[in-house]
Amino acid sequence: MYDVCIIGAGVVGCSIARELSKYDKRVLLLEKSDDVSNGASKANSGIVHGGYTAKHGTLKGELSYKGNGMYKKLNEELNFGYRQTGSLVLGFSEEDRVILEGLIENGIKNGVGGLKIIEKEEVRKIEPNISTKVTCALLCEHTGITSPYEMVIALAENAVQNGVELRLQNEVKNILIEDDHFKIITNKGCVEAKYVINGAGVYSDKIANMVGLHDFSIIPRKGQYVLFEKGYGELVNRVIFQVPTKKGKGVLVTSTYHGNLMIGPNAEEISDKEDVSTNKEVLDYIVHRAKKSIEEFDMKKVITSFSGIRATSSTKDFIIEESRVAGFINVAGIDSPGLTSSPAIALKVIEILKDGGLDLNLRHDFNPYRESIIKNKKLSKEEVNKLINIESCPEKIICRCEQVTEGEIVDGLNRGIKVTSIDGIKRRTRAGMGKCQGAFCGKRVRKIIARENNMPEEFVTERGPGSSILGKRVKRNFYKE
Ligand SMILES: Cc1cc2nc3c(=O)[nH]c(=O)nc-3n(C[C@H](O)[C@H](O)[C@H](O)COP(=O)(O)OP(=O)(O)OC[C@H]3O[C@@H](n4cnc5c(N)ncnc54)[C@H](O)[C@@H]3O)c2cc1C
Repeated sequence: MYDVCIIGAGVVGCSIARELSKYDKRVLLLEKSDDVSNGASKANSGIVHGGYTAKHGTLKGELSYKGNGMYKKLNEELNFGYRQTGSLVLGFSEEDRVILEGLIENGIKNGVGGLKIIEKEEVRKIEPNISTKVTCALLCEHTGITSPYEMVIALAENAVQNGVELRLQNEVKNILIEDDHFKIITNKGCVEAKYVINGAGVYSDKIANMVGLHDFSIIPRKGQYVLFEKGYGELVNRVIFQVPTKKGKGVLVTSTYHGNLMIGPNAEEISDKEDVSTNKEVLDYIVHRAKKSIEEFDMKKVITSFSGIRATSSTKDFIIEESRVAGFINVAGIDSPGLTSSPAIALKVIEILKDGGLDLNLRHDFNPYRESIIKNKKLSKEEVNKLINIESCPEKIICRCEQVTEGEIVDGLNRGIKVTSIDGIKRRTRAGMGKCQGAFCGKRVRKIIARENNMPEEFVTERGPGSSILGKRVKRNFYKE
């Protein structure tokens, strides 16, 4: 019998798992997909928000600033990639200035300090590429950027290292309420746990339904992005927002943690919770909107497009509570700023478990540290070419664009989580994330995955079951003007 069973290995489930691994409890993390971070946590803006936008009095308002403040230490321990860049919310009119003042007021209520409005000249001084039409901006110094999937991988690796059991490809199909525990039925069998934590993202309403709870529903809201090549992120120094609308924070322009330029997202309600397609019409709209902030983009530098799905709850706020079913805890409706809030969400869940009667004692052998997989290097073209053609060894370059070595790929495959997809390695090492989008390294990565897992190459997939790639390259969504 497990003490706690967490459903869903996104940033929420993995943050909770890692927090729980500090205590003397048996914890099981169930994930239906073939890897961690395959839901919203892999496809988002990666912004560690400042905490001033989320409305005061909501859980989002309470947890986003708190979460932001926890990132520095978390990254020092887990090395997933985080940088405090600061952000600007641009204003283009006197009406916008009033909105910016409202954001400061809301921020102060949320406990956020250090916010100020700066004028056009200063905006253009610190961000020379910003539109000349800008009139003022809200400056927040503590906004940051992170690598969202690397964060989830790091949390999961560290949780597993500290004793959490992770079962991938285990889809929860039903939950039975017994006298003092739950029976959780998956596609692989049945497990028992005293407490269940529902962190199933867009499917958290369906999981709640399994124990007879119908208090909320999840409305999937898709956001699409255009991604430009590495280095072009230098176009901006900070995260550049426009004034928020009723639909959300609007289209932003930012560098990713690894230096790509990224613009997006839009927000569209969809009915299919799996629909992560992108389309030219929406991407054109995003570029058009982003041009309000930066007047010109070099569209020749676009490398791909992608989309993610927000799990917006019918209550319009995060739902983090022990439900009417004792021992069943919902952590649902975690849309933006869920990534920012996730470290604080995990602490809140620990308190809920304690209040619910779980006796939690700290372990003395908890190891908070995890090494980065990616080793930053700046090799010349000649050095790369030389290292591409050498015999198999840790220094051999496998991905030319991102200078990823065989050693990094082998490391990513041997961290306690079984990785059998090209995408899994891509998110761990960046192999395939460059200009050619894996055209050069795809086959080479596949061979190493097969070798290290001691399995036939045809069992290696592009992105999990049903995406076998042997003999053909699956064409990705690709956007160029
Ligand atoms: C377009 C977009 C932009 C965003 N930008 C930001 C941002 O810049 N900053 C920020 O703070 N937040 C942002 N967010 C929000 C953030 O991405 C989410 O809040 C966060 O990723 C939610 O994590 P999660 O673990 O709840 O969900 P997910 O990452 O979706 O994880 C849920 C997991 O549950 C699994 N699962 C589902 N059903 C079952 C089942 N039956 N059995 C087993 N497993 C199951 C899924 O496979 C999935 O892995 C953005 C979101 C989107 C979509």
